[in-house]
Amino acid sequence: MVKGRIVVTGGAGFLGSHLCERALNDGYGVICVDNLLTGRLANIAHLMAAEEFAFVECDVADYAYHGGDLVAILHFASAASPADYLRVPVETLLTGALGTRRMLEIARERDARFLLASTSEVYGDPQVHPQPESYWGHVNPIGPRSCYDEAKRFAEALTTAYRGVHGTDTAIVRLFNTFGPRMRAHDGRAIPTLISQALAGEPMTVTGDGLQTRSICYVDDLVEGVFRMLWSDHPGPCNLGSTYEISMLDLARLIRDLVGSDAPIVHVGRPTDDPRVRRPDIALAAKILSWEPSVSMVDGLRSTIRWFAAQSASVIGAPTP
Ligand code: NAD
Repeated sequence: MVKGRIVVTGGAGFLGSHLCERALNDGYGVICVDNLLTGRLANIAHLMAAEEFAFVECDVADYAYHGGDLVAILHFASAASPADYLRVPVETLLTGALGTRRMLEIARERDARFLLASTSEVYGDPQVHPQPESYWGHVNPIGPRSCYDEAKRFAEALTTAYRGVHGTDTAIVRLFNTFGPRMRAHDGRAIPTLISQALAGEPMTVTGDGLQTRSICYVDDLVEGVFRMLWSDHPGPCNLGSTYEISMLDLARLIRDLVGSDAPIVHVGRPTDDPRVRRPDIALAAKILSWEPSVSMVDGLRSTIRWFAAQSASVIGAPTP
């Protein structure tokens, strides 16, 4: 007997697949809704046999919930890596708008708690550092990244409006850079790119001078923060991320050392509107969720490297068709 059902949109993606796993382990039935735009069935293959797990391949904007007992929606569907959303900017905007509206409607009809996965990108290239939730951001509304940033800003506004107009039980989390197993090697994000390059002994590409910083959070910590927020009654927005800030150049050197590679580090062009600094203020999460990351960056990188190494070993060892 499950405690209730949770819909996880984007459940076949990197974060979504970890959330599906956690919800099942916590005793909930899980419906994973994903159109496989950037997700993979391999991410949820180990869950398919579970009686209380269902996969629905569809666009979130078209999804209809027919079951009973819905307690929550974790709305994570969206292209997330710049390489992905730059490829499908219109779809990204519409997922943030129409997909979010559809899921909010379901939450309203079913009286379920709705949690929106927003992003640190709503702060744009920030002029306040670190970024507290009260900072309104510095986003270029017509820049190349705007399809993602503005989709999330619209989704936050729509979520807030549903709460105000319909009394829908909503929560917004603003996620900062997260990493771990099940990222795609070639999704364009720095960590999978650098790890794959180091493992292959290929030149490791750092954009610009590499002095731009990010704070990177291990996926297990992030999932814990999301579930604490889900079962709180706080509307957010609430930042979730690591406060340990590292430059991209230092990160590349650290990954190279952990892999034990002697790959050279090469500098390539920096993308337009790429933020120079990024670090969350997580005082709110500490206060309302008693949450802070507990996995060290090095431990998180080690387990991610092990996962990528195992993936490339299984590809190399696979029989040729
Ligand atoms: P991901 O690309 O691995 O996962 C996104 C998933 O959403 C994919 O499985 C994709 O197929 C699915 N999807 C996209 N559009 C869809 C649509 N219209 N209908 C149904 N499914 C759709 O990315 P991720 O890193 O796991 O990110 C998940 C969520 O978390 C995103 O909303 C992203 O904005 C947010 N987020 C992630 C990070 C991070 O560092 N990973 C940081 C901030 C915010």
